[in-house]
Amino acid sequence: MAKRDIIILPDKRLRLKSDPVAKIDRSVRALVDDMFETMYEAPGIGLAAIQIGVPQRVVTMDLAKKDEPKAPQVFINPEVTWKSDEKAVAEEGCLSIPDYYEEVERPTAIKVKFLDLDGKPHEIEANGLLATCLQHEIDHINGVLFIDHISKLKRDMVLKKFKKAAKRGEPVKPLSEDKEPSHHIG
Ligand SMILES: [Zn+2]
Repeated sequence: MAKRDIIILPDKRLRLKSDPVAKIDRSVRALVDDMFETMYEAPGIGLAAIQIGVPQRVVTMDLAKKDEPKAPQVFINPEVTWKSDEKAVAEEGCLSIPDYYEEVERPTAIKVKFLDLDGKPHEIEANGLLATCLQHEIDHINGVLFIDHISKLKRDMVLKKFKKAAKRGEPVKPLSEDKEPSHHIG
């Protein structure tokens, strides 16, 4: 296992549409191991492979609270098959857009089909944090970021800050006061 670097806005790879995993082999298992190590270290509760620069449709997640035992989950080729009409607003953050948090409106509940690490198909209905996190990560593998769901004014402000920082080779100064890692969706 190895911790990998998380790519940060405005890295163009964040806009790639990731490829489906054709075969769950040793390299996919190694990728998943690295993703967990990187995600736990960050710390974040979810990670898409493209966030470490690998354009494959692989998502890792662990929604366990600090005092709970680890609960790692892997979603390979995840796909939303149903969305509720009802929507809810939740605060999101992203490891690829560090220290910025904003409220995002998404469907309250979704159904997602995916493969596990053994290649076995599953379909689950998700709501609450799991629904938010799955939608955030499935967006990532489609080249979509959570800032695409906020106002253009706010999105342009964030993009400008990150472009400027990248040019100077400096980290971005936190845009939000709130640094609670649980909001680092992934
Ligand atoms: Zn993210």
